[in-house]
Amino acid sequence: MTASFDTDVLVIGAGPVGLTAAMDLASRGCNVTVAEQRHRGEPPSVKSNHVSARSMEIFRRLGVAQALRDAGLPADYPNDVSYRTTATGLELSRIRIPCRADRYTDKSGPDGWWPTAEPPHRINQLYLEPVLFGHAEAMAGLRILNRTEVEGFTQDDDGVTAILRDVDTRRRSEVRSRYLIGCDGGKSETRRAIGARLAGDPVVQRVQSTFIRAPDLLGRMQAKPAWATFSTNPRRSGNMYAIDGRERWLIHNYLRSDEADFEAVDRDACIRMILGVGADFSYEIISKEDWIGRRLVADRFRDRRAFICGDAAHLWVPMAGYGMNAGIADAVNLTWKLAAVLKGWAAPELLDSYEAERQPITEQVSHFAMNHAIALGKQRAAVPDNIEAPGAEGDAVRAKFGRALYELNVNQYCCGGLNFGYFYDASPVVAYDGETAPAYTLAEFSPSTVPGCRTPHVWLNDGRSLYDALGDGYTLLRFDPEIDVEPLLSAAATRGVPLVLLDVISDDKDLRAFYPQGLVLSRPDQHVAWRGDAAPSDPTALIDRIRGAAPATAAQRAA
Ligand SMILES: Cc1cc2nc3c(=O)[nH]c(=O)nc-3n(C[C@H](O)[C@H](O)[C@H](O)COP(=O)(O)OP(=O)(O)OC[C@H]3O[C@@H](n4cnc5c(N)ncnc54)[C@H](O)[C@@H]3O)c2cc1C
Repeated sequence: MTASFDTDVLVIGAGPVGLTAAMDLASRGCNVTVAEQRHRGEPPSVKSNHVSARSMEIFRRLGVAQALRDAGLPADYPNDVSYRTTATGLELSRIRIPCRADRYTDKSGPDGWWPTAEPPHRINQLYLEPVLFGHAEAMAGLRILNRTEVEGFTQDDDGVTAILRDVDTRRRSEVRSRYLIGCDGGKSETRRAIGARLAGDPVVQRVQSTFIRAPDLLGRMQAKPAWATFSTNPRRSGNMYAIDGRERWLIHNYLRSDEADFEAVDRDACIRMILGVGADFSYEIISKEDWIGRRLVADRFRDRRAFICGDAAHLWVPMAGYGMNAGIADAVNLTWKLAAVLKGWAAPELLDSYEAERQPITEQVSHFAMNHAIALGKQRAAVPDNIEAPGAEGDAVRAKFGRALYELNVNQYCCGGLNFGYFYDASPVVAYDGETAPAYTLAEFSPSTVPGCRTPHVWLNDGRSLYDALGDGYTLLRFDPEIDVEPLLSAAATRGVPLVLLDVISDDKDLRAFYPQGLVLSRPDQHVAWRGDAAPSDPTALIDRIRGAAPATAAQRAA
């Protein structure tokens, strides 16, 4: 940072995406300032309930995964997804997901097999954000300015000048940074300022959402408690998330296509139908959180020195619990590149790869989410009228519909593909070798070293996760100690690119299948940049490719 800059990077917004971006930058030795209009400690909206395995891997690298694991629902509270006629009615089927206490050890069930040291974590944003905030605030080089709104910014060849306004005193000040990241949510002003437009489907689903306190609800349930409980009946279908595992619940009432006005729908009557309770049941509304599920992706993620990440760049129905998680993936795709340019070992062209890599994958995820929301809507509309019938007839209907619910949804909640299967297939800074990556799907996942894919996880013989052994910069994974890697290491050293050699010693049964080549070059964001059986013939060309100094042409990317 030169004297004329107040900070290397200004991040707008201390939501989960902004905090992750700031933490990753700080962990890479950058000076970062976060401006957030909320009070310090002011709770966010009660939205996200699921942190993906991929995000947990990222949080592990940042040293905050364990603190997150220790927060949220009680350790023994079931994390299952339960399908019922009503919340207090008959159970139709259940997707079993290990509770927090058993998360690392219980390998049974559809959510037990995760090829990682960090399986997913069910926690509401209310509990997640304070942990991230506390961790971020304690990091060297990271400053969070609460009650500070960014009103606008201008750019020049060297940096960005932002106008900050103290929300309480209305006093204005300027901050000069080298780069700016707008993590300012769905109503992002940064998106507008960089000239980006959202494109897609503006209304997929309207949901009347209510955050309630109901100490009596758990005691009225016939079935074992669950993290997510879906009510499926011909009157009113909806769902609820356990927030504290005791008395606080987030209730979603899926409005029908003819119910366009949130306030015209009788909230109380619908809540009682979803819960299956009568007038004798009392509850308190903590807040109303109505939302419209959309499928919108920005047509650009960047203008020169200003970038957007998270909900600022894309919005979609929260199917498979992935909006925030996709934003976290944006953040860490961008931040190592910014750090590399700021530290001087990468060319500014490296930054072009952010949009090239993230925008196409984001577009794909948005379709996964929307298609699933549409399929669920059709299923809700097809609930059999006799689903609550007593006796054998009802039992048969419930068993059949319960199976259908399970089959449609298990892929959404146990979504290995969504987590780990995304890959960057047209990046200017990845050295492709002609092999096609395994298809990106919601559920299925084949670990692969095809350049652009996530570096496959294995356990090392010393008990560590491979990810714990990776360096902060690039890591050259070597599976045969006879391979001479000196030319590659010295090319990196000549260019100042941080690259460490890791001789992988592992008896992991999957090692050979996952890593057929002798060498794999893993990026700072744990994606494969290159692979081979020997050091490349022109190691400097490879190093220049991956640091953005000799980006691939369109033809090379397509090859
Ligand atoms: C019901 C529901 C359930 C969901 N469930 C999940 C889930 O399970 N998993 C998942 O991954 N996602 C889920 N999502 C989506 C998830 O909540 C969002 O994707 C996530 O909050 C986006 O994070 P963000 O940091 O990009 O934006 P936000 O969380 O919106 O944060 C933006 C921040 O920027 C601040 N800000 C805005 N403008 C300014 C300004 N000018 N100056 C200073 N500060 C500013 C705001 O105060 C805010 O703190 C769900 C969403 C909904 C509605």
